[in-house]
Amino acid sequence: MSVAMDTGGARKERMLIGGDWVDSVGGGGLAVENPGNRSVIAHIPRGGAEDVDRAVAAATEAFKTWSKTVPRDRGRILLKIADAVEARVEELARIVAEETGNAIRTQARPEANGVADIFRYFGGLASELKGETIPFGEHVLSYTRREPIGVVGAIIPWNAPVMLGALKIAPALCAGNTLVLKAAEDAPLGVLWMASICQEFLPDGVLNVLTGLGEECGAALSKHPGIRKLSFTGSTEVGKLIMREAAARIVPVSLELGGKSPSIVYPDADEDWVVDGIIAAMRFTRQSQSCTAGSRLFLHADIFDSFLGKLADKVKTLKIGDPLDEETDMGAVINEKQFRKVCGYVEEGIKQPDAELLFGGMPPEAGPLSEGYFAIPTVFANPSNDWRLAREEIFGPVLCAIRWTDEEEVIRMANESHYGLAAYVWTHDIGRALRAAHAIEAGWVQVNQGLGQSPGHSYGGTKQSGIGREFSLEGMLDSFTQRKNVTVNVNTPSGPLT
Ligand code: ADP
Repeated sequence: MSVAMDTGGARKERMLIGGDWVDSVGGGGLAVENPGNRSVIAHIPRGGAEDVDRAVAAATEAFKTWSKTVPRDRGRILLKIADAVEARVEELARIVAEETGNAIRTQARPEANGVADIFRYFGGLASELKGETIPFGEHVLSYTRREPIGVVGAIIPWNAPVMLGALKIAPALCAGNTLVLKAAEDAPLGVLWMASICQEFLPDGVLNVLTGLGEECGAALSKHPGIRKLSFTGSTEVGKLIMREAAARIVPVSLELGGKSPSIVYPDADEDWVVDGIIAAMRFTRQSQSCTAGSRLFLHADIFDSFLGKLADKVKTLKIGDPLDEETDMGAVINEKQFRKVCGYVEEGIKQPDAELLFGGMPPEAGPLSEGYFAIPTVFANPSNDWRLAREEIFGPVLCAIRWTDEEEVIRMANESHYGLAAYVWTHDIGRALRAAHAIEAGWVQVNQGLGQSPGHSYGGTKQSGIGREFSLEGMLDSFTQRKNVTVNVNTPSGPLT
């Protein structure tokens, strides 16, 4: 387990390197805050380049044995991790709720349960690391092997930290790689907890988890010559930096980046269940801190006002407050920087003459909600699709409702984005739904549902939303293995092989 010490009420955490729980070589630390009440809950090491060196060295050593371990045995270990996480899942849910500000009932507990599912899914796939045989001819045996790549460097964000961490750890390790994972500085505690469970079953050095700042620890990891594969989830801006580092050394890279996902509601879908679906798609109960948030709501002109009326009524009932309270639907935004950014967009929207603030607005400045970073669900009606609010990823509960009348026009507007991660289509007409689903540029289109991610589904984006897929067998094979071809001439000049 990571060692917890009392430092004025906040516990002290350590990083996992080579099976040991350690401080950073530089000795510096960072505070982790509960965004629901702005109290410091823990201190973590401020990892830097020397810590990355140590972790990569440990992972390189561990790779020698782990890569040769029979895949079924690697899978068994992942299955044990799944069981162990499940047995203590409530602990994980509470840690995640406290450090992320995500409400325990609506977000943190489902996320913690998802971690066990992810380990179990990939644990069961170990025997699927199969190659192919190639028909070169009667006297040639040609086959491929799915080999691990080596030491993987993975960097994750804070919005769903343990699920996104598990999505790197489980497939990378199943495929026989070893891993150096950098947790997000704002939400490292659940990831360290998960690492402590993994470490009960894994050989030393197979999984190493670092904490620290992006520009220090993350940058050092992305530049490290010992890293053979980079897997990043986070902003498009940082994704570009990671890709540059990967390009410098021709290292394969997977990127799961931002989004500004469209939700298209057809005129026949002015119904309550669609309103619920839009709220789910917008991820209001995760303060919309999700790259798949359906944050551009394209409503047909015929239903524009009546649909927004129903949406306002339902969203107003969401209970905002203490993330650890079971009654809470919606918790706090992760940190002050992000909170100010969200407020900045809301302020800009209020000043925009062509848009109408339908509900929501600036957060309260007094009362219990002012003690944490609580943003309130906000909907602007009729903003121009060219507006910053309608184009940029806000990563906060700000929804833009845009009117449409013509299907071609709405698809064009939906595709007018440098992002292409997710999309949502709402109609009873299957022909229209599939026409739209096929025309929208996105990695994941959902028809008539707002939630529904599950292991086995290849998840990832097009355009500047990313490269590569996660969450599935195919994603694991593509992202964490490399094909080797072996071609054998069975009929050598000195006679057939015996
Ligand atoms: P967000 O804005 O959602 O925090 P970021 O892309 O900034 O998203 O952060 C996602 C992850 O990337 C975090 O773990 C962060 O520490 C890391 N990160 C940030 N900047 C860099 C960088 N220059 N190089 C490598 N990692 C970074």
